[in-house]
Amino acid sequence: MTEATLEGWKAGEPCERHFLAFCADCMKFAKLTHFGGEIVYQKGCGINTLREVTGLDYEFAAEVLREAGASLGDGTTTLELRTAIESLGGILTEVTGLGERGAEIASWQSGRRFIVTAWKRSGRGYSGHAWSITEGQPHRAWPAPYRYRIYEVTGL
Ligand SMILES: [Zn+2]
Repeated sequence: MTEATLEGWKAGEPCERHFLAFCADCMKFAKLTHFGGEIVYQKGCGINTLREVTGLDYEFAAEVLREAGASLGDGTTTLELRTAIESLGGILTEVTGLGERGAEIASWQSGRRFIVTAWKRSGRGYSGHAWSITEGQPHRAWPAPYRYRIYEVTGL
């Protein structure tokens, strides 16, 4: 199995194993999925979050996270998001005390940007999610209840 690129999948290049464009088995193996008419990584909330707070396109945001140590398709840790933002010259500062509503208001009034990382019990373990707050709006937020931390992005 060769490592197919996201660009190759989007272009409809056939998989090496079955010579099949958009091969469902090989896409699953590559941890890719269809979402909203696009081919994206599974568990890609960290990629979306980085894209939303930086304005990078999807593939570049994914590459920055890969270089920050993320295993694309397996989800993103807060440390990987922090490393990615710092590699772009940005700074991540925890501001959980603002609360989500406070971050929404702050992001509306002054163009400030925030990242929320959240977790909750799921089966025997925990599941996590990340989203952004920009221009007064949370993007892809979980429904409550969950525990969370909020980080402000500056310097970008
Ligand atoms: Zn295949």
